Formats: sequence, structure tokens, C-alpha cells
Amino acid sequence: MSNCAVVGINWGDEGKGRMVDYFTENYDIVVRFQGGGNAGHTVINGLGKFALHLLPSGILRSGVVNVLGNGVAVDPENLWIEMQEVMSRGVAITPDNLKISDRASILIPWHRDMDELEEMRLADKKYGSTKQGIAPFYSDKYQKKTILAGELFYSEELKEHLADLMEWKNLTLTKVYGAKPYTMEKLEKWIEDYCDRIKPFICDTSAFLKNAQNSGKNILFEAQLGSLRDLDYGIYPYTTSSNTTAAYAPIGSGFPGVKIDEVIGVVKAYSTCVGEGPFVCEMFGSEAEELRKNGFEYGAKTGRPRRVGPIDIVATKYGVEVQAATAIAITKLDVLSYMDKIPVCTRYIQNDRMIDRFPFPAALKSAKPVIEYFDGWKCDISGVRKWEDLPKEAREYVTFIEEQICCPIKYVSVGPERESIIIR
Ligand code: GDP
Repeated sequence: MSNCAVVGINWGDEGKGRMVDYFTENYDIVVRFQGGGNAGHTVINGLGKFALHLLPSGILRSGVVNVLGNGVAVDPENLWIEMQEVMSRGVAITPDNLKISDRASILIPWHRDMDELEEMRLADKKYGSTKQGIAPFYSDKYQKKTILAGELFYSEELKEHLADLMEWKNLTLTKVYGAKPYTMEKLEKWIEDYCDRIKPFICDTSAFLKNAQNSGKNILFEAQLGSLRDLDYGIYPYTTSSNTTAAYAPIGSGFPGVKIDEVIGVVKAYSTCVGEGPFVCEMFGSEAEELRKNGFEYGAKTGRPRRVGPIDIVATKYGVEVQAATAIAITKLDVLSYMDKIPVCTRYIQNDRMIDRFPFPAALKSAKPVIEYFDGWKCDISGVRKWEDLPKEAREYVTFIEEQICCPIKYVSVGPERESIIIR
């Protein structure tokens, strides 16, 4: 029996979904422990290509039980739509392979409205939200002003609770933003159309996980986004509103006493960042456009072009530390095959001094990247399955990163498909 967390080391979009899909062969249960439908895990396997937003990536392996833990922002509307999409492609989703924590808080449609209204108010100072309601949702969760999934089983009390919340929320919607107020009819329709549909999947997932562990099952914890988007350790305020770090997995999964044996940090072979905020190693112009095109770097949820740059050793080393990663999976190495010389951001310069420690968020703006170049390998490596078959230049690139970030790179991904991987 062993447990493992698969987490992002950078700004998100590292390929965590692809790695979880690969690892689930050895796990019985996959648990999402934070975040909501604001990111997308793209998974390609024998069933086709899937963009998962809220569903754990283990949903695509038969026999794996998937859990949405209490730390997740459960949006009944988007979850139900996503379930329909995935089921229409031949994947069975039943209460046997999907379980939603009764202690998970529910994202109410007004959270999405609030997100949109606030981004509009911020105009050119916006944070680059995906407008899925995540920040308003978590603010309300911590103000104790949303509902728990388990409340859907107590319909009279639920309506009373929602009416109170609506009265409070309408004040902000109408008086602060000049938007239309909610009505109970609208909320009742939302309950009927979406909340009632997900009810069969809601249960005491804490008891389920504890029993599963006692009977020797292996649990994989799947994170969303990456270290640099963690609410407490990331590039605040350009973070997400939850903790993306492995340390949060026990709390957000509903199994506070669980021991996590291995933390696999996923690092992309170059850098990408969606939305606003400091991104020291950012590339611009045709160099950036070429990398974006080769890596197909457009957001899975929003389709927005991602900002791109070389791998950033300073940020990655910090990300490894924050996650307390025990092993690394490096993804998308194949994307760099077109480059003659591969840039690497090895340090930052700040106030005329070289630094290798990731700075405080407010200090990032004045940091400049130090770029060094490695020889490219200039050949297709997507069919390589053994470390020794990789070109020497590719091995040198991976080994250099490994030494710099002080964590063993055990997995090298050379394509999006399940089997396109080299195990070291
Ligand atoms: P996640 O949110 O961390 O799961 O990452 P995304 O799904 O947003 O982005 C990763 C993208 O890279 C997806 O489109 C994957 O199919 C793709 N991908 C993952 N690993 C590799 C790889 O090794 N090579 C290539 N070419 N694509 C990859």
C-alpha cells in the first residue's frame, strides 16, 4: 500500500492530467483535493482526447474510484455538463466510480457572475480570472456563506439557507455592481436541473477513504495548477484561491491523517503561464510564437494563448521546495526538438545582483532573467522509450535541470499519449 500526490511545480498546465492518467494503473482511488473547474487537464489515451475540468483524471480508467474532496469547489452545473460529455464518449460514470464529498462546498451560479462583474470593474487591472467563480466561491466558503453538498439532502433547510444567502448576495450584486438580483425561482430551477442530478454521487467520502486505506488500497491525490499559483506560497495576488500544494492534500481530500509516501512534481521542459502576473523568464516576438505553436500552448479552458518562456530554474527549484517533491516528471521534452540552441533561465538579476532564490512576489517585477544556452538535439524524440536512446544533448538538458533543482527526474514524457514516456 502506498499513497502519492501528483502536483504542479510551475504555473500550472505542466501535464499533470497526462501523468495522473499514466499512474492510475497502480492506484485504486484518485482524489481531487482543491480548485474547481477553472483549469483543464488534457488527457489522450485509447479512448480519445479529453479536456477534464472538475472530474479527476482517473475517471478514464475503469476500476478506479474518483473522489472530489471537501477542498474542491463543486459546481453542480459545470460538473453535470462535463459528466454528460465524458459519458457520451463511452466512459461510465456511476456512484461506484465517482464520489463527491458531502462536506464539499457548492459553487452557486452567482459566484460566476461575481467573478465576471469584478473582472469588468477591474478593467485593465484585472487578474486574468477564468471567470469560473473560483475566487468569489472560496471567499464565501471562508465567510461561511455557501452551502455544503450534503445539504442537498435536506431540501426544506436548504431552501431556507439559500434564501438567507440570496438576500445577502443580492445586496452586493445590485448595490455594488448594479446587476440583476437572484430570485428563489431561479435557484430552485438550478437545484432541479443540476444539484438533484449530482445528488446520487454525494456521500461521506472521508469514511470511504479511511475504509479503503484500511483495506490496503492505494490513493493518488491529484492537484490542479502549480506551486506558483498556491494561495499562500505563490505569486500573490496572481494566484488561485486555494492551496495547490501536496501539504494540503490530506485536508482537502477529507482524510486529514493520511500519510503521503511520494510527491511527484510535474515540471514542463519550458515555461508557460496563463493570465496576468509577473513571469520573469517570458519570451516575446517570433521566438515566443514558435514555442507556443510547437507546444500548442493555448488554454484548455479558455483557449487563451499562454505566455511562454524557457525553463526557469529559480522558479522551478522554489516550486520543488514548496511541494516537498520526492520525484519529478518532466513533460513536453519533445516540443524542444526544433530548437538549435535551448535557452534556460538559470538565475535572476535584481538590483545589479545575481540571485538564485525566488523573490517575494512584489519584488518579481524588477527581476530580470539570466539566460544560458544548451545544444539542441534537432531530431524527433517522441518515439524514444529508453533513457539511453535519447540523444546525448537531451540527456544533458534533463540532467542539468535535475542537478539544479535538487530532485531526481524519474519520468521523462516525450508525447501526450499514455505510453509516450521514459522511466529512469
Ligand atoms: P495539466 O492541467 O497540468 O494537466 O496540463 P494541461 O492539460 O493544461 O496541458 C498539458 C498539455 O500538454 C496537454 O495538451 C497534454 O496533452 C500535453 N502533453 C502532456 N505531456 C506531453 C508531452 O510530453 N509532450 C507533448 N507534446 N504534449 C504533452
